Amino acid sequence: MSVLLIAEFDQSLKAATRSAITAASQLGGNVDVLVIGHNLDSIAQQAARVQGVARVLVADNAAYAKPLAENFAPVVVGIAANYSHVVAPASSFGKNLLPRVAALLDVDMVSEVTKIIDPSTYLRPLYAGNLNATVQTAEAVKLLTVRPTAFTAAKDGDQSAPIETIATGADAGLSRYISENIQVSERPELGTARVIVTGGRSLGSAEKFEELMSPLAGKLNAAIGATRAAVDAGFAPNEWQVGQTGTVVAPDVYIAIGVSGAAQHIAGMKESRTIIAINQDPDAQIFQWADYGLVADLFDVIPKITAAIKN
Ligand code: FAD
Repeated sequence: MSVLLIAEFDQSLKAATRSAITAASQLGGNVDVLVIGHNLDSIAQQAARVQGVARVLVADNAAYAKPLAENFAPVVVGIAANYSHVVAPASSFGKNLLPRVAALLDVDMVSEVTKIIDPSTYLRPLYAGNLNATVQTAEAVKLLTVRPTAFTAAKDGDQSAPIETIATGADAGLSRYISENIQVSERPELGTARVIVTGGRSLGSAEKFEELMSPLAGKLNAAIGATRAAVDAGFAPNEWQVGQTGTVVAPDVYIAIGVSGAAQHIAGMKESRTIIAINQDPDAQIFQWADYGLVADLFDVIPKITAAIKN
């Protein structure tokens, strides 16, 4: 049994990849990490140092400079038959890539795995996290996306795994990279932040969202999250959305500000270690999930809390 883990990276290996390596290690076989892209020396070396990695396979081609799933999928398909499992993080990257691989291989895949029970049996959430299903697959090659928040990030070990280059194909010609709009921020990434402050629709406008949430996040060195209602209203960018259809997070501290606590939001943050809710409605659903609750008008208390926190 051996596992192929598809790495996601930017300048460095993403934390989601390290979590996926932990999940892959629990499947029981050797874990080979596949890095696809262009000019991959540094990333390959980083991947080789991670504990539990047996081998790093490098698919380097100018056509892979941008992560287009249409180009990456054939690379994975080309070597999938050598493996019992193909694993990717359940991030936008993994969710884009692995279904294509599954379709090309004509196998079922299992998504958003939160626990490995045995090599072919896994736990995964259903119905916005209200139910945990135990699922089993009999496919010869088992395709899994794993939820990064459910597995600790694998650390670097003492040794470096061997790095091998594999053959690559040409540009599939199915899609074209046009541009990307990356939010450059000094703040921690939402998916891996230790503290998250999330604002809801009640903030009322993009200006108020920024005016109240940014200083608080800055003081706490927190990432900013938003409810879907706040995103839909244009108060916050899409990539800040926490929940069933946004990012699933599990920080040490999650502060929900003017958030009602709809099931679809809870699905994305209920694994947070400590949840603090601020809402003016004492009956708001969010208080049922909160370790600490403050019934108050956010416009009144957030500036005071921010001012009271020492730099
Ligand atoms: P509201 O529900 O309008 O709540 C606002 C809260 O603010 C209320 O509790 C109110 O008491 C409080 N409030 C108002 N004024 C103040 C004040 N001055 N001070 C303090 N408190 C105040 N939602 C997500 O967040 N993430 C998802 O991924 C997501 N996915 C979805 C997927 C589907 C298929 C569907 C149908 C819905 C999804 N939703 C998701 C939407 C979700 O159902 C809720 O509509 C949304 O979470 C509500 O956002 P909210 O709490 O900001 O707004």
